[in-house]
Formats: sequence, C-alpha cells, structure tokens
Amino acid sequence: MQFVDLKAQYRVIHEEVEAAVLKVMREGQYIMGPEVAELEAELASFVGLPHCVSCASGTDALVMSLMAQGVGPDDAVFTPPFTFVATAEAIATVGATPVFVDVEPRSFNLDPAALDQAVSDLPDGLQPRAVIAVDLFGLPADYARINASAAAAGLTVIEDAAQSFGARSGNARAGALADVGCTSFFPAKPLGCYGDGGAIFTAHGDFAALLRSIRVHGQGSHKYENVRIGITGRLDTVQAAVLLVKLKRFERELEDRQWVADSYTRRIREAGLPLECPQIPDGTTSAWAQYSLLASDSAERDRIIARLKDAGVPTMIYYPKPLHLQPAFAYLGHKPGDFPVSEDLSNRIFSLPMHPYLEGTDIQHILALLKPS
Ligand SMILES: *Cc1c(COP(=O)(O)O)cnc(C)c1O
Repeated sequence: MQFVDLKAQYRVIHEEVEAAVLKVMREGQYIMGPEVAELEAELASFVGLPHCVSCASGTDALVMSLMAQGVGPDDAVFTPPFTFVATAEAIATVGATPVFVDVEPRSFNLDPAALDQAVSDLPDGLQPRAVIAVDLFGLPADYARINASAAAAGLTVIEDAAQSFGARSGNARAGALADVGCTSFFPAKPLGCYGDGGAIFTAHGDFAALLRSIRVHGQGSHKYENVRIGITGRLDTVQAAVLLVKLKRFERELEDRQWVADSYTRRIREAGLPLECPQIPDGTTSAWAQYSLLASDSAERDRIIARLKDAGVPTMIYYPKPLHLQPAFAYLGHKPGDFPVSEDLSNRIFSLPMHPYLEGTDIQHILALLKPS
C-alpha cells in the first residue's frame, strides 16, 4: 500500500497526460508556452479570483508574495511553528524575522487569540508587517478572525494554501481567503504536477503585475530591462500541461478524498478507538491533503505506527518537530515549552494513507490494524 498512490492516478490519466506533454515537447515553447496562461486562467476561475500567477514552487509563491510587499530586514512576519518548514523559511529568505504563533489544538491551525497576543508582545525594533496563516492538512485556517486581527494591526495576510487547494470556507475557495493566496503543485499535494510548481492568487491586477515582474528577474517593459530584484520563478510549460489535464478530474478527486476521510472517521468512532479524529468546522471543507489523528500519547502513537508498518501500511508524522525547535531556527532563541500546543501535537500526531484512489478494502484493512489486539 502507498501513502499517496500517484501511480494509481497515473494509470487513469496517462493517455491524456502523455499526449499533452508530447505536444509541449513537439511545439518547443518550454518556457512560458501557451499552456501556462491557459492554466492561470483556469486556476483563477476555479479559485474565484481575477488573477493567478503561476510559479516554480509553493515556496517561491510565498517568497514572491513577501518580495512583492517589500517585506525584508527589520520586518516581523507571524506564522505558526506547526507547519512544513517552507512557510517560515520563506520569511527568513527575504531577510525578515519569523515570529511564531501557536496553533489551536483541534484545527492545528494558527490560533487567532495567540496572534493578537504575539502582535502586542512584539519586541521593539521589529516592524509588524504580515502574517502567513497555513491551512494545515487541507483545512482552511480561521480567516474571519485572522483577517480581522490583521486589519486591526495593519498586517497583510498571506494564505499558505499549499495543502488546501480545493478546500472551501463558506462560498470561497482556499487561495482566496486572505489578501494573497499561495499554493503548491508538488506531486503529493491535492493538485500535484510531475515536478515542482506553485501559484499565487490575488484580487489586485497591480499586485499580479508586480509578481509577474518578480517571477522573471524583476523584468520591466523590455526583456533586458530590470526594474527590481526578482528570481527565476516560472512554472515550466510541461507542468502546466500536466496540471490542465489533472484539473479536469480534480473536483471528483476532492469528493473521493472526502469519502476516504468520512470512512476513516465513521469507523474509528464506531469502533470507539481512543484516537482524536480531524474536526472540520461547519461551513468549511478540507482538501484532505492528509488525514491526521492524535493518539493519547507518544508511546501509544509509536505502537500504532509499528503495528501498521509490520502489516505493510505506511504512515507519516507531520510534523515530528515544530519549527521553533529546528536547528535552522535556533537563531531565534526558542526553547521547549515556548509553543506547548505545537509541541504536544508533534508528540501525538500521525497520518494515515490518503489519496483519491484508496479502496474500501484498504480502509477496512487499516482500521482493523488501528484496533489494539
Ligand atoms: C508543500 C508546502 C509548501 C511548499 O511547497 P513546495 O512546492 O514544496 O515548495 C509550503 N507550505 C506548506 C504548508 C506546504 O505543505
């Protein structure tokens, strides 16, 4: 059994993907070919915003969004420590300071009350500029409260929707829930390409134009006029072609992920297992990048993982160490106990196989193994 079975998906779409990739190869527009603009238009309409700027990865989406706002040294950007490293790394990449804010114990997402506290506790010498909230495991963060707090503090809100592309909050899609939305098309994300890729969503044409310039070395009106510092941040035409094919099946795949998640939750609850299932607030849907459970303690988690592994069922721990305790962020001077919710989650969390091609029999097999023998 695979944790994320990309080959099962490929078996279904291979003819269409191969034709689309071959077409790019034959036409020769490997950089910024027509598929890129076509994809951007489709993604913008899917998310419900006027502008989509595709880019080379989810990390570049975050870096470019910060660059476009002029975030840099002496600026503070608030973000949770319980996330993939790229979120905080992007802040450090532009020379700004990541200021960690603990997460909520049930949603695993940024705690809006802790954000208010962190803003008022910010040390002198740091300018509060932005917050990057993360839609962890596919569930949108609480943007109603985060956006309100940020507005009061004069912060821009960036949505890290790398795991939540396709999710909804009310009538809006992930990627459209804050000032700027960033997503990733890394192969294992809900919508993945066959390499690295990402995209940025915005309601503002001038901001989109700035991102397009940053994406090509700060290009001005002429190819060899450079009006600002930028990066090589383009999405390959081949990846755009792959994504155009995959986008056609994406709604159905989201439904299939929802079915898998519902099956897990229903059966875990029916069996009365001592595991905390993901909780999705009313009016919100998850893109189910991961299905993550909390065991009662770290030892119990390790027993469950070992039992599944022995039976050939892969699990993952997202994330075994919160970012404030990672060596890369040691310069921030944090210690164990600084973000207790994130640390507790790191000790107890684990994720089950999750992808749209998981069968009912796989789920039954996994469930039987979750029961203590
Ligand atoms: C995957 C991920 C990213 C980075 O995306 P890449 O395309 O791998 O650069 C950023 N944030 C979160 C929360 C992610 O899961």
